[in-house]
Parts: sequence; structure tokens; C-alpha cells
Amino acid sequence: MYVSVRGRIWLEAEALNMVERVGNYVKHRRVPIVVSEGGNFLTFFVPAISGESVAHAYQTILAEEMGKVKEKVCKYCQKGIFLKSSSKEVYQDVIGEKPPEAANKKKNEKSEVVGKIESSIVSNCGVEDVGGFLYAENPNVKRTSSFYTGYMVPVREGLKVLSIDPQLHSRYALGTKFVGAAEGESTSGQEEGESTSGQEEGESTSGQRIYYVELSSGLFAFSFDLDTKFIGKYTFNVDQYGQDIVQTDSAKKRTQAAIEALRRLLLEFPVGAKRTRFNPAEVRWDSLSLAVSNDVWTMPSSFVGDYMARALSKKSSVNYGTNIYSYAESECKGDKCYPTPEETVSNAINDALGRLK
Ligand SMILES: [Zn+2]
Repeated sequence: MYVSVRGRIWLEAEALNMVERVGNYVKHRRVPIVVSEGGNFLTFFVPAISGESVAHAYQTILAEEMGKVKEKVCKYCQKGIFLKSSSKEVYQDVIGEKPPEAANKKKNEKSEVVGKIESSIVSNCGVEDVGGFLYAENPNVKRTSSFYTGYMVPVREGLKVLSIDPQLHSRYALGTKFVGAAEGESTSGQEEGESTSGQEEGESTSGQRIYYVELSSGLFAFSFDLDTKFIGKYTFNVDQYGQDIVQTDSAKKRTQAAIEALRRLLLEFPVGAKRTRFNPAEVRWDSLSLAVSNDVWTMPSSFVGDYMARALSKKSSVNYGTNIYSYAESECKGDKCYPTPEETVSNAINDALGRLK
């Protein structure tokens, strides 16, 4: 079963994906976008939210949903720390035993070692089963994620009106005993020329700290695909490719959890950092389409405005039991259109859940 989501979401006054701090200046992530216009190519540097950021939000919810259906999640993924069995030390810590080694092993024994590592990690953590992992030791064992997402960038029509602006903020503590006057200044209660030594000079004694945070606003393109085919199954060890690691019932529950996590991701959109003080002034779907299919069927990109029309045209030539559920503030196109994003998501997710065997 395959669920493909494309959408456009309004994010106003957002600081969802910051990349570096230079002194007291916090920069927003930005990426180059190239478009063609009137026979010329133009480059825009635009605010962006990384696919890692979207994936982090999704996997945090996924860990909770796995817990609800009583599927195992390792102690790190449970806490939103996605170390994902990356080394021997992490493996031993979460699995509770030393990983098998591949050094000096014959070819068929190596395959056994690879299979053992793959099955131990997958059985032990539903998040790593769905979201993949990389065991970077000897042997190397990796699992490709069953969900796919990517950079959120402002949509094509809006590129020319974008800007990123640094906002000034200050933390103020003058008048308390914890701060002194800046060097060379006098404060009330102190005689002119009286030394302020005894208190450390520099930032720790400054009564006012200023800092800048870059904000942007725009209509952002969103994409997310979920392929449930290999949940609970071997994919890396070629000798066992496609065979079950976890029991059928367990694989079904993990798949349900992955679909429910997608529902929550779309309804609440908890993507990005700085949500306690820079929560976007508006988070609102302008349009959204979910295609539910029996095999790989991806929605066209929502970077360009006609994506729903292109989806219907694609479906007329390629169709794997595909149903397209859509919502749009202006012109909606889909097999079914709903008056709200919530109804659209619910109906599509229920269709997906109904297809589970
Ligand atoms: Zn884990």
C-alpha cells in the first residue's frame, strides 16, 4: 500500500529551521531554486525547511503511535533521539548483547551475520523498521526508510515576493543585583569614578543582551510518501530479501502506526523548532492532496500550482487502485474533494487503513 501526499501550506512569521548562529545572529536555512522564465533561467535563494526536520517530526509521532499499538521502540527513538543503531556501542546498549562480527568470516557466514544484525534492530525498534537506519560498522548494514520526504520550499508563483528579515530581540536585566553597569558608565547609587570591579566585566554583567532571529513567510510546498511494502521484512540481506522479520500481526500494527502518524503529522503539522516563541503566526493548508494506491504511485510536485490537475492526468494513464483525496481553498481537483483539510486527511487515511490485510 502506498500513500502519497502533496500540499501547499501557509507559514507566516516562521523560524522553523534555523541553521547556524553567528555571534548573536541566528540564520534561517535557505536554498537556491532555479526556474525558467521567458527563455531565461533565474536563481532565487529562498527560506527552506529541511526534509530532516520533517522526518524528525514524523518519527517523533511514529514512536508514540508504535507505543499505542504495543510495538517495540528502542529507548532512544522513544525520546526523539534518532541514533538508530549507528555503532556497535549503540547496538549493544539497545539490543542488550554484543553485535556479531563479520571479520574473518566466510561468505555464507557473513550473510548470516548481516541477517542477524538486520533482524535484531528491526525487531527491537518499530521506528527504525519504518524510518530506516545505518549500522556503520563491519559489516555495514543499512535499511532504507519506508517514508520519503524532502525540502519544503516556497511555491513557484511566490518566489519573487519572498524575503527573510532579521528581528531584533533583547533580554533585559538592568536594575537587578545580577548585572553591573557597562564599563565607563555610572549608575545611580554609585559615585562618579567608583570602580565596578568585583563584578566580572563582559557579557555576564551586561544588563541587556540583544540577539537577532531571521524570520520568513510564505506558501510552502510539502511532500511525503509512505510505502508500507517492506515494513517488518528483510531488505538488506539479499538471501532473505522480502522475508518476514516480525510476525504478520506485528507488521500490520506497525503499518497502522505509520499511517496514524501521518494523519497526526498532517493535522497538527508539528514540524520545526522554536515553536515556543516563534510559533508561526499562521499554519494553514492552502491545498492538499493524498493519493492512496496499492503500489508505488506518487503525486506530482506541488511546487507548481497545477499539481492536482497533473495528478488526475497521471491517473488516467497509470492507476494502481489509486484514489485521490483533495482539498483546496480555490479550485479543487481530485477523485473526491472535501470542504476541509481535516476531512480530506481522515477519508484518505481511513482508505489506507482499510487496505491493510
Ligand atoms: Zn530506535
